[in-house]
Amino acid sequence: MGLDVCLTLDADWAPPNQLEVVVELLEKFEVKATWFATDNSSVMERISANPLFEVGIHPNFYADGEFSGTQDEVLAGYMRRFPTAKVVRSHGLFSNGRLLTSFVNQGLCIDSSIFMPEHKDVQGYQLQIGKNVLTRVPFSWADDHFLTKPQCPSALEWVNQNMRQVVVMFHPVHIFLNCRNQQDYLTYRSTDRPVMHDEYGVRNMFEELLSSANCADYRVVHLSELAKKMTG
Ligand SMILES: [Zn+2]
Repeated sequence: MGLDVCLTLDADWAPPNQLEVVVELLEKFEVKATWFATDNSSVMERISANPLFEVGIHPNFYADGEFSGTQDEVLAGYMRRFPTAKVVRSHGLFSNGRLLTSFVNQGLCIDSSIFMPEHKDVQGYQLQIGKNVLTRVPFSWADDHFLTKPQCPSALEWVNQNMRQVVVMFHPVHIFLNCRNQQDYLTYRSTDRPVMHDEYGVRNMFEELLSSANCADYRVVHLSELAKKMTG
């Protein structure tokens, strides 16, 4: 038994220099992670080539997405970019019944588009769709949630409050900016300049989690490993 921790990253079209900061931290500490990729770049190729990482897709089904057309056409666009993807988390947690069917039709078998903040030891479940099965694995800590609710525990504090399994989610942009609150991100969005500060932020929180992973009594696993464990 023991605690299994899954670190997930929603790429959210972050530019290569932002992805690089995150990859270098993960490689430095040699900690596994599951990426929900959006677009291709040389950094994303480096991520895909490293067995430390599992790469799924993070499709945008909203009207401002880069692919137009039906849900199936949008999904097919992302699958062309990442044809071996087995795991998915929709951008903005977009979901509906038909979409879950589209996921399995495209060969995706694990969906992590459910957020359950402050729920400990969240369980996954299997959804039978025709002859296929989609395992749904919720996440329970997210950096953007933390930024709007600073009374939330830090990522490491939250991990330590779970006994069996936990999925946490980070965005490269918040790690890159070392955001302390939502305002740091909004300032960057409106000025295109990072807010410089020496205070504790998301990057410190991420590094804290990675450095503790090397000496803690929990295992860091890919989402597909966790899904397998949860569903036997
Ligand atoms: Zn997103």
